[in-house]
Amino acid sequence: MKKKEKDQEEGQVLKEKQAILYIVIPCYNEEPVLEETTRQLKVKMEKLIKEKKISPMSRVMYVNDGSKDKTWELIQKIHKQEPLFTGICLSRNRGHQNALLAGLMTAKNYADVVISMDADLQDDINAIDEMIDKYYAGNDIVYGVRSKRKKDTWFKRVTAEGFYKFMSKMGVDIVYNHADYRLTSKRVLNYLEDYKEVNLFLRGIFPLIGFSSDVVYYERNERFAGESKYPLKKMLSFAWDGITSFSIKPIKMVLNLGIIIFIVSIIVLIYCLVVKFLGNTVAGWTFTTCSIWLVAGLEMLSLGIIGEYVGKIYSETKARPRYIISRNLNEEEKSEK
Ligand code: UDP
Ligand code: MG
Repeated sequence: MKKKEKDQEEGQVLKEKQAILYIVIPCYNEEPVLEETTRQLKVKMEKLIKEKKISPMSRVMYVNDGSKDKTWELIQKIHKQEPLFTGICLSRNRGHQNALLAGLMTAKNYADVVISMDADLQDDINAIDEMIDKYYAGNDIVYGVRSKRKKDTWFKRVTAEGFYKFMSKMGVDIVYNHADYRLTSKRVLNYLEDYKEVNLFLRGIFPLIGFSSDVVYYERNERFAGESKYPLKKMLSFAWDGITSFSIKPIKMVLNLGIIIFIVSIIVLIYCLVVKFLGNTVAGWTFTTCSIWLVAGLEMLSLGIIGEYVGKIYSETKARPRYIISRNLNEEEKSEK
């Protein structure tokens, strides 16, 4: 606990100095975009340093998430040429959320404040200035929120907005239209370390951590090169993870369904008795068969949902490491000197 208290004090003091900013960017097969991203971020970082908004020790940290192309070679090359850029490499592909977590947990050792964003520049980098202003104004978390989705396809827009609405109906506290473009202070990241779950849904965890927060609105651009690593299948499984990791509403729905079925079955029982006394038993065969099928189906559904939770308990109790970092250019640079 002492460590945390010290951190809190540090958090307050640092807001008066130039903070060390780290921008963490997970990259999976991002060879086509990295050079342009680097060019634009370099301009941005140099401007921020010149304006004395951030410390010259600030860096952009690429996280190579087990890419199959030359992404890691490119990151190493960029690191050699541009002192403002560094990188870490995961031992294999672990998915966007785990790669991001690896980056955040590594960056917090060097930084006072960290911004996470995607490699494809879909998150408008001009929102960074405002995020930093809001950090100095005393916010520990600044959420980047998409103001419009004009440039998304109709399908992506409807599914994504439906996702946020459905999540909040399901009792998951998330910021509407906010993905993973956000600023977090070092102390928030220190608390994030205490969330040990394997089924990671970061945008649900940050609101749980709390502290003062604000939002910055930005327009989401199109991916300028390469293709999306989030096909519909991954999006659906991400949403499913979000709901089952953060909400017990599905279990409550099963319970409610059970109560309704119980009431209905009493009515059906009375109905059957009446039909029997009237002497029309054979005619009830269809109805009985239908009921059996219906109830069996619902039972299966309920079991499936409960099974999902049991599965989650299972993977959480194993407490496997969520990522293994094979290399860290920041540390290598130090030992070279
Ligand atoms: N990403 C990753 N690991 C993966 C898939 C994606 O690190 O297994 C990164 C990817 O390089 C990008 C970010 O996650 O920086 C978001 O992916 P993408 O832009 O493809 O998703 P979309 O914007 O289409 O939702
Ligand atoms: Mg993208």
